[in-house]
Amino acid sequence: DQTKQALFAIDQSLQELPKARLRTIIANYLDNLRQKIRLGQIKSAEELALAKHLPNLLRLLREALEPKFKRVLNATGVVIHTNLGRSVLCEEACKAVSLAASGYNSLELDLATGKRGSRYALVEDLLCQITGAEAAMVVNNNAAAVLLMLDTFCQGQEVIVSRGELVEIGGSFRIPEVMRRSGAYLREIGTTNRTHLSDYALAISDKTRAIMRVHTSNFRVLGFHKSVELKELSALARSKQLLLLEDLGSGSLVNLSQAGLPAEPTVQEVVAQGVDLVSFSGDKVLGGPQAGIIVGRAELIRECKSNQLTRALRCDKLCLAALAATLRLYLKPEEAMAKIPTLRNILCSKSELQEKAEILAAKLNAAFGTPSFQVVSGNSRVGGGAFPEYDLPTSLVELKPSPELNLLELKAALLKTDPPLILRLEQDKLLLDPRTLPYEDFDLVVKVLVLAREALISKDQQA
Ligand SMILES: *Cc1c(COP(=O)(O)O)cnc(C)c1O
Repeated sequence: DQTKQALFAIDQSLQELPKARLRTIIANYLDNLRQKIRLGQIKSAEELALAKHLPNLLRLLREALEPKFKRVLNATGVVIHTNLGRSVLCEEACKAVSLAASGYNSLELDLATGKRGSRYALVEDLLCQITGAEAAMVVNNNAAAVLLMLDTFCQGQEVIVSRGELVEIGGSFRIPEVMRRSGAYLREIGTTNRTHLSDYALAISDKTRAIMRVHTSNFRVLGFHKSVELKELSALARSKQLLLLEDLGSGSLVNLSQAGLPAEPTVQEVVAQGVDLVSFSGDKVLGGPQAGIIVGRAELIRECKSNQLTRALRCDKLCLAALAATLRLYLKPEEAMAKIPTLRNILCSKSELQEKAEILAAKLNAAFGTPSFQVVSGNSRVGGGAFPEYDLPTSLVELKPSPELNLLELKAALLKTDPPLILRLEQDKLLLDPRTLPYEDFDLVVKVLVLAREALISKDQQA
C-alpha cells in the first residue's frame, strides 16, 4: 500500500490501472529481483535501493496503461511488411470502414427487395468486372482460400504439384501441410529447379483430381531452372478433365512491369489463360484489407460457396467495406495506382524518392544541429512475398556513425518512442527509407529520433 501511494504521488494517472493489474506488475517485478538475488546477480543492498528501481517500475506501469496496438512509423522501405500490418488502406477504404463500423448497414439486406441478401454480392461483381472471371468469392485470407479450394474438390484425391513450388511462406504456412489438412494427397513431381510438362503428364492417373500451381512467393530460383507455361498446363488439364488450380500469392490486378518491375502475370492474365480457379491475397500488392480472393469458373465457385467450411472462413463487414472501396478504384487502373498507398509506394519515382530523402535529411540535420544525416542510394523491397529478391532503387537517409551514439541501442530505443520508429541497421549504418514514410510523418520522425538520441546520451552521462 505504501508503494502504491508513493507511486500515485509521482504519477496520478497510474490510479487508472485496475488494482489487480497494478499488484501483479509490482509482484512480478519483486519476484524478478528475488530471482536475481538467488542467482547472485544482485550482491549488495545498494542495488536494491528503491530509487534505483522506481524508474523501471514506473515505466512498466505506464506501459500497462497504453494500448498494445500502436501505430508505428515504417522507415524500412518494405512496402508490404507483414509485421507492420501489410497494406495501408486508401482513404476511400478508411472512410468505408468507419461508416460500416459506426452504424447499422445493408450488409445482408437486399435494398431492392427488402429480403435477405448476400454480404458478398458487391465485391463479387467488382471482382468479376476487374478480372474478367465468371465468378468470385472472398474468405478470411489467402491461406483460407487455398484450404477451401482443396477441401472442396480434392479430398481423398491426388493433386499434382511441382517440387519447385512446395514452398513455406512466412508464419510457417506450408503448402504440403495445408494439403494434408484438406485431406488431399500430394503428388510431387519434377525437381527443385526443373519441372517439365512430361512430369505432369506422367503423374496423371485415375486418382488425380487437380493440378495445382503455387507462386514461389518469397524466394527465387536462379540459374538452371525450368517451369511449365500456364498455357501448356491448362491444355493438359483440359484434355485429361482435371482441375487447374493456382495459388497466385500476392496477385496483382495491374501490370507493374510498366514501372520496371519484373514481369509477373496479373490475375486477369492467369484467368484468361484458362486456370479454373485462382486465389490471391487482399492485403498484399492489391493494397486492400486482409482477405483471400478466389476467382474463376462459376460452377466451381458455387461448389466452394456451398462448402460448410466457407462459413467458418468468412470475412467480416469491415473487411468487405474496405475491399469494395479498394476494388472500385481498380475500375480505372490509373486511379488505383494513384490512390492506393501500396501501389503508390511501389511505383514512387526515383526523383520523388530523392526529393523526399533530401527533405527528410535536411529536417533531421536542422534538428540535430549537426550534419549527421546524408542521402545515399540504396534499395527498398516490395515485401509480402511479391517480387522476391527484387531491389527497388531508392534514396536512403543515413545516420553517420559517431562515437557518442551506439546505433544498436538507438534502434532499440526507437521501438519505445511514441510512435515507435522502425528502421534498418545494415553493416553499421542506420538507414531510413522515405519510400514508406508519408511527408506528413516527417516531423514525427524527427521528433522521435531527437528524443531517442537525447535519452541515450543522458543515460550514458548518468552511467
Ligand atoms: C502470402 C501467400 C499465402 C498466404 O496468404 P495470406 O493472405 O497471408 O493468408 C499463400 N500462398 C502464397 C504463395 C503466398 O504468397
